[in-house]
Amino acid sequence: MTRAAVRADALTSLGLIEKRPLESYVAPDKPSLVGWSRAALAAALGDIGVAEPQRRMRVQQIWHWLYLRGAQSFDEMTTLSKELRAALAGRFTLARPEAADEQISVDGTRKWLVRLPGEVAGRPHDVECVYIPETDRGTLCISSQVGCTLNCSFCHTGTQRLVRNLTAGEIVGQVLLARDRLADWQQPPGAGNRPESRLISNIVVMGMGEPLYNFEAVRDALNLVADGDGLSISKRRITLSTSGVVPQIPRVGTEIGVMLAVSLHAVTDDVRDQLVPLNRKYPLRELLSACRNYPGLSNARRITFEYVMLKGVNDSLADAKALVRLIKGIPAKINLIPFNPWPGSKYECSDWEQIERFSEIVFDAGYASPVRTPRGRDILAACGQLKSASEKLTARERLALRAMAMTD
Ligand code: SAH
Ligand code: SF4
Repeated sequence: MTRAAVRADALTSLGLIEKRPLESYVAPDKPSLVGWSRAALAAALGDIGVAEPQRRMRVQQIWHWLYLRGAQSFDEMTTLSKELRAALAGRFTLARPEAADEQISVDGTRKWLVRLPGEVAGRPHDVECVYIPETDRGTLCISSQVGCTLNCSFCHTGTQRLVRNLTAGEIVGQVLLARDRLADWQQPPGAGNRPESRLISNIVVMGMGEPLYNFEAVRDALNLVADGDGLSISKRRITLSTSGVVPQIPRVGTEIGVMLAVSLHAVTDDVRDQLVPLNRKYPLRELLSACRNYPGLSNARRITFEYVMLKGVNDSLADAKALVRLIKGIPAKINLIPFNPWPGSKYECSDWEQIERFSEIVFDAGYASPVRTPRGRDILAACGQLKSASEKLTARERLALRAMAMTD
């Protein structure tokens, strides 16, 4: 074992890198079919007596109702016989997570508090999901875990105590819930003149949690979201963001095939160790090597490096130059994220002029370097501010958060 690995192991056992245990998911008595694979649906049909030769067609029909038309009850599935609908309803539901709260920002951003089944010590399992409309697209930001086992020092989600992995159904369920709330389903033929383009055109896995610590569920959910006979959101329009779980990065390319975003945030191990403690386990050299070798990487399929702008910490012009040197040769774009403060956070956002100067250096080196405009700040929907209400902020914390969001 290398010295770095021994240190990382010691830190992990001290709970400094991944500090909290995962709560487990308790399945409801009547399971929801949302998120099931075709094979699992076929097996379920077999269990309720559907003969083998018919199963494939029935699965296609259920798939159509569920993922193209947004059916919320078996009764709506009029291409299935009444008997089959009743048999399905006796054993299963089409439940998706509930929206326990909906907030709409002055800029059109919407945030839902998504309530998942189960609770621990009276606390519901909640995550947040955000819809961000823009002129040329509509992006849905989804969560992969309740809370996060990692503790990036600038991230609000990392301070949440309760953690559990979402199931594939709960991850897909956020897309269904958002389509329900936005009335964004395909209409029956002849039903009005609604344009065929969907409001939700893009998905980013940038909500709560580290998706690569819930790999299988995230993989199955994203493959379902991209399925051409269903939700049909192209893999080029789906982006998964990781804090740098190096061993899982190649699997994102081979088993999911979506766009990769990496939360880089620093150009030296010293600084990154402070910001993203996982760096002690997977340092920059290993992370960048995983990026260079990312399966399917090309100019058309670049990696996005996310870089949160923290005043006096990682935002010097020397940092910008080092950043360009570090990622040399990797087809990439750099997404500069103004830091979103939260009560108790020890950082400040860089000055606007500094962000512009930083961005210019990166741009002049040949990389697109958009600065992410904070959206939905009045409803605390901006990046890194997601933290479910179940976490019970004190009234004082809530007021402070709102005040920060309004004045920045
Ligand atoms: N866990 C994954 C994905 C969720 S976070 C990850 O870390 O990549 C999505 C992005 O928001 C990450 O780049 C994260 O570093 C950034 N972020 C977290 N807290 C933030 C804050 N307070 N201000 C700005 N960006 C933040
Ligand atoms: Fe977790 Fe990402 Fe927040 Fe880090 S930035 S604590 S990995 S959600």
